[in-house]
Amino acid sequence: MGTEYSIQISLPSVGDEEWHALRDPLENGWLTQGPKVAEFERVFAEKHQVEYSLATTSCTTALHLALVALGIGPGDEVIIPAFTWVATANVVAYCGATPIFADVNPETYNIDVQDALRRVSSKTKVVIPVHLFGLCADVDLLREGLPGHVFILEDAACAAGAKYGNKFAGSLGDAAAFSFHPRKIITTGEGGMLLTHKGSIAEQANILRNHGASISEEQRHNGPHPYLMPDFNLLGFNYRMTDLQGAVGLVQLEKLERFIQERSQWAKWYREALKHIPWLKCPEEPKNGRHAWQAFVMFVHPDLAPMPRNDIMDILQSKGISTRPGTHAVHMLKYYKEKYDFDAVDYPNAYDCDRNTMAIPLHNCMTDRDYQYIVETLESLS
Ligand SMILES: *Cc1c(COP(=O)(O)O)cnc(C)c1O
Repeated sequence: MGTEYSIQISLPSVGDEEWHALRDPLENGWLTQGPKVAEFERVFAEKHQVEYSLATTSCTTALHLALVALGIGPGDEVIIPAFTWVATANVVAYCGATPIFADVNPETYNIDVQDALRRVSSKTKVVIPVHLFGLCADVDLLREGLPGHVFILEDAACAAGAKYGNKFAGSLGDAAAFSFHPRKIITTGEGGMLLTHKGSIAEQANILRNHGASISEEQRHNGPHPYLMPDFNLLGFNYRMTDLQGAVGLVQLEKLERFIQERSQWAKWYREALKHIPWLKCPEEPKNGRHAWQAFVMFVHPDLAPMPRNDIMDILQSKGISTRPGTHAVHMLKYYKEKYDFDAVDYPNAYDCDRNTMAIPLHNCMTDRDYQYIVETLESLS
């Protein structure tokens, strides 16, 4: 059998509109954070119904910025799910704070709220629920159980356009961070966005994003005194997005609804087409809300599957179908495992998900035939 197929796990859907959008900043010479970024921030915040928005270089830097703006440092504890992308833990470590892992719910792959609440201590300052693969974590249940002073920072990297009830991801906690990496639903190459309802967080994060400068480049550009330099009262960073990215982001944002609708239709189609395979469990649409379908991550039952998951992934690869494990059990990554002396069994569900999940291709550059071929190939393994 030849491999006429080559179906990527993910491909950014970009075209002529993004290409043309780059013309403006390239011609007018404003390449770093400027009018395109400001417009992208405004439209993104409006879409997610949150007051303040700050574009950044990535979701990782948006999360870091939020933690620093909240004053998180050594001695503080931040609760995060054990099954997530490593960045969720790393940003806590960047602050010198301690990540406290909580196990996940294997039905949703999201943080197990009861387990998270059991781990709250007098040092807990923040909980970071992750909306993994585009499904919102149960933020209301978390808020109900948490002491009032503990902040909720949503890791909404995968959740642009996702809904929890009728509220958008990013509007559920005190602050939220999104990603525009090409693996996510909309992309700017690299890029991120910090959203918050709180003016104090936005103001602090805005200063920290630009080296801690007391006046912005824009103010300096438009200001009357050429000799005025900003003062630097804080240790800040350069986490600014470029206007080239802002211009692309604006075009991508216009396509967000279509991207999600398309993905949602195919997710439904996958569930129907694969439901007779007893060793594969498909992800569900939430009863109350909207999945953004950043990824379609299935659970491969180890006792029912005809062979180990990794062998299944190898066979699919040889037939031109890319797959990936859902994400990591972060407590088993060497840096964290050695630093905190973790065992696999400390977070059994996260470990199970790490071993047994498999994402199959679902994105906006696939044809009907691609989807059919993937299902036929999975059926042939049964
Ligand atoms: C992708 C991802 C991140 C990191 O996003 P970047 O923009 O690449 O920094 C963080 N958390 C989760 C859950 C992610 O999936």
